[in-house]
Parts: sequence; C-alpha cells; structure tokens
Amino acid sequence: MKYMRERLGWKLFLSYLIIVGVGLVVLDLSAELQVPRVLERDIAHQFFLQMNPDLARNLEENLQSAFNEILIIGTATAVITAVGISFFAARRITMPIQAMMRVSQQIASGNYSGRVTAMTQDELGALATSLNQMAEALEHTEQRRVELIGNVAHELRTPLASIKSTLEGLIDGVIPVDPDILLEIQHEVARLQRLVYDLDELSRAESGHIVLELRPVGLADLIRKAAERLRSQYEDKDMGIEIVAPSDVTVRVDEARIIQVLLNLLGNALQYTPAGGRVTVNAWQAARQVFVAVRDTGIGIAPDELPHLFERFYRADKSRARIGGGSGIGLTIAKHLITAHGGNIWATSPGLGQGSTFMFTLAAM
Ligand code: ADP
Repeated sequence: MKYMRERLGWKLFLSYLIIVGVGLVVLDLSAELQVPRVLERDIAHQFFLQMNPDLARNLEENLQSAFNEILIIGTATAVITAVGISFFAARRITMPIQAMMRVSQQIASGNYSGRVTAMTQDELGALATSLNQMAEALEHTEQRRVELIGNVAHELRTPLASIKSTLEGLIDGVIPVDPDILLEIQHEVARLQRLVYDLDELSRAESGHIVLELRPVGLADLIRKAAERLRSQYEDKDMGIEIVAPSDVTVRVDEARIIQVLLNLLGNALQYTPAGGRVTVNAWQAARQVFVAVRDTGIGIAPDELPHLFERFYRADKSRARIGGGSGIGLTIAKHLITAHGGNIWATSPGLGQGSTFMFTLAAM
C-alpha cells in the first residue's frame, strides 16, 4: 500500500481502473434490472405471447443470455483497452518525472550538466524546460563563481609577489633603500587597495544591494562635475574634455552613482588615448530617453572584443591594461549601476586605432 501511495504512476493506473470498474458495474446492473422490465413492457403486451407464456419465458431467457454474452465480450474488450491505455498514460507521466528527479538530484549534488529531454508539450514538458533553464542558470553561476575566485587570486598574486620580492631585497640589503623603491611599493599597495574597493563594489552590485538615492539632477551639471574631477589628470596628458549637453535636461538619478559611471568612462578614455588625443561627451534627449556618449580618439577596440568589455575582469589588451593598473571591473560595475537606473550601456568602435564610443541611456524626466 505504501508502495502505491508513493507511486504517481500506480495511483493514476488504479484510478483509471476504478473508473472503468465502476462504469462496468453500473452498466451491468442497469442491464440486469432493465432487460426484464423492457421485455415485459414490450413483449408481454403482445397478444400471441400472452397466449403462449412458455414461449415468452423462453424468448426472454434467450434474449437475456444473448445480452449477457455481448456484455461479457464488451467488458473484456473494454478492460483490455483500459488497462493498455492506463499503463501507457501512467508511463508517459511518470517517465519524465523520474528523469526530472534524476536531474534535480544531480544538481543537488553539485553536477549542473544534466538536462531533461522534454517529450511532451503539456505542463510536464513545460516543467522539464523550466528545470533545464534552472540547471543552465545554476551552471553559469557556478562557472562564474569559480572564475571569480581564480581571477581574484590572479589579480592579488602579481602586486603581492612584487611587494614581497622588493621587501626581501630591502631586508637583505640587495636593494638600497631609496624613495623610488618605496614609491613603487606604495604604488603596488594602492593597486591592491583599489582592487579590494572595486571587488567590494562589484559584490554589492552583483548581489543587487545597490541602494539608489534618486533625485532630479541637471544632466549637463552632472557631466561637468565628473569632468572637473579628472581635469588635472587630463591636463597632465595634454588632453581636454569637450562637453556638448543641453542645459535644460534633468534626470532623476543617484548623482554619486552616475558620476561614478562617468568617471569610469572618462578615466578609460584618458587611459586608452595617447597624449594629445580628444575626448568628447555628447548628451541629448530622444523621446523618453536621455543618451550620453563618451567618445575618444584612442586605441579603439577590435569588433570581437566589444561584446566582452562589460564582463568581469575582461581586458581587451591584457598586458597594456596590467601596466596601466586596470582591473577589468570598472565597466562591469558601470553596467550594474546603469541597469539599476533602468538604462542601458554599450560600446562601439570602428576598430583598433580608430577610437571608441561608450554610450549609456537614462530615463528622461
Ligand atoms: P580597466 O580597469 O581594465 O580599464 P574596465 O572594466 O573599465 O577595466 O575596462 C575593461 C576593458 O575595456 C579595458 O581593459 C580595455 O581593454 C577596454 N576599454 C575600456 N575603455 C576603453 C577605451 N576608451 N578605449 C579602448 N579600450 C577600452
């Protein structure tokens, strides 16, 4: 009984059988009760039968046995068909469920590669598709988690190894204590600090814990504030930022967060543009959206790199970015911040050596 209770297939099978059984009993009973009455009503009134009661009884018995025979053949056919159909239907239902159980157990034990083949288009098929989607999402998340740990370890290893070997040289007296060496150590420590800060920001952004303090801000003011913060660094490279933005457009945003995005884009434009290059920020409103484009005349981006720029730790030119101190997290954070504001961010570039444009949108007020 317990076995039955735990098996959906058997339950369905039995329920079909009970329905068929009840149907048959009802049919049988009504035939048993009705046949004599009908015969009595229709036949007994016939005159000649009244005259021959034996013939009437004989006829009634014959009819009853013929009817029973038909009933037995009908019942046997119905039972065989019902059993066959019940068995087939129960298997159709339990097989995908068992397959889904196997896959979900695999997922629970940390193996995300299993998938179910959806055999039907009904609710069970939809459930199998949902399970596959969940397995795929979990597999992707797990892959990213492993990648993240690897990337973080890799990012920490280089500055730490450099600091360690310099300190060892200083302790052993192989390297003389001079301000340049100390500045080098300070530079590496600052890089580590920036990485830890970025990681902290990234984890907050990825876990969806960005609390936005939205308020109306003038778009042109926002861009000017960000540009102002980088002015001296731009001047050091003999560069300037040209801003073309309407002064009457207001957006409802978290000012600090959008400035953070602009600082990242302007910082990148500065980093990836040779001295003397040009950086322009254009902003405009179209329908219910505001567009901001940061264009530079820098090293550009190859078409196959464009789709990956917003991925964590992605660097288009790895060796150059490492020297420049980039961690490849800035654009990932920027994307999270813009998405949290309900906007979009993307990059375009005609190709290597031909400059790049980073664009984002925000909802207009
Ligand atoms: P990073 O800290 O390395 O700059 P980002 O996430 O900000 O990290 O950028 C990711 C990568 O995108 C960079 O390493 C660089 O290869 C590329 N990139 C970003 N901005 C530009 C740009 N303006 N011109 C060319 N390449 C860029």
